[in-house]
Amino acid sequence: MQKNKNKKTFLVTGGAGFIGSHLCEKLIKIGHKVVCFDNLSTGTLKNILTIKKNPNFVFIKGDINQIKDISLIFRKYKFNGVFHYAATVGVKRTLENPLMVLKDAEGIKNILELSLKYGRPKVVFASSSEVYGESRELPEKEEGAINPQIPYAAVKLIGEKFLEAYYYKHNLKTCSLRFFNVYGPRQDGSDYGFVVGIFIRQVLSGQSPTVFGDGRQTRDFTFIDDNVEASWRAMKLEKTSGQIINIGSGRPLTIFDLATEIINLVGLEGKIKPRLVKNRKIDIDVRHRFPEVGKMIKLLNFYPKVSLEEGLKKMIDWYKNG
Ligand code: UDP
Repeated sequence: MQKNKNKKTFLVTGGAGFIGSHLCEKLIKIGHKVVCFDNLSTGTLKNILTIKKNPNFVFIKGDINQIKDISLIFRKYKFNGVFHYAATVGVKRTLENPLMVLKDAEGIKNILELSLKYGRPKVVFASSSEVYGESRELPEKEEGAINPQIPYAAVKLIGEKFLEAYYYKHNLKTCSLRFFNVYGPRQDGSDYGFVVGIFIRQVLSGQSPTVFGDGRQTRDFTFIDDNVEASWRAMKLEKTSGQIINIGSGRPLTIFDLATEIINLVGLEGKIKPRLVKNRKIDIDVRHRFPEVGKMIKLLNFYPKVSLEEGLKKMIDWYKNG
């Protein structure tokens, strides 16, 4: 743990989730104080095991969409920054529960109003590449066309627009990050989870990874450590205020190639092959994701460092050893 003369206090909502927990760890590691707020719906205490006992870390169980839960926290702590990451996540879960997703708009409102009222901390919001939907132009640019097609995307867009509005109307510092696919240790690989975890789980148990459709759909994958570094820079740097920034590599990969790479890294090359299956979510499976990352490079002075091979190896190790 570093000693930090400029020690600050950050709120991380959704801090017990996959991305949030890694962010909490980083903030603690560089010597800040962290209040982790999570309703443990998809986040788990296991995710924050490494930092739970740290004197700079506080975990509070609560629902961001309930003003009474979160206003207490803002009254008690003086935040220098807020990372608003709490959300209903996972394609399957969000499609099955659209109204639960809609409730997350309330959480966005709570964060903005309370930030305005209590000390005006900068707010960094986890938005999503989903706002591009089936993209109308490639690469996908922050100032270009958007096409939100699912409830999750609609709520993320509400978030972005409200953050912008609070920036322009109230001069509250805000920044929305459009995360493209993030992967790494702790990511959910269950049926409600995400493709990298699902494939690793399948391959480690000797099954063929189930590739939906023809497998030629593309996604842009960022390893969790790079995602966290980008978010930290977005918080720290003044020039990100009022901005929306894509976070990705700009190097899309087909899902078929992802499956093949995981098979190879697990050492089952020639023994199992990706299995093409009918897509369960055929109507909404976006064909291509391909971010323009020039704005990220310019504003954050950052480009992801971890190669796909290196990142997948780390994630495979985690799935093996827990
Ligand atoms: N996918 C797949 N097999 C699976 C799970 C996902 O081929 O078992 C594909 C899915 O159809 C999509 C991509 O992997 O094209 C990424 O899916 P995920 O749900 O992780 O995230 P999305 O980018 O769709 O939000």
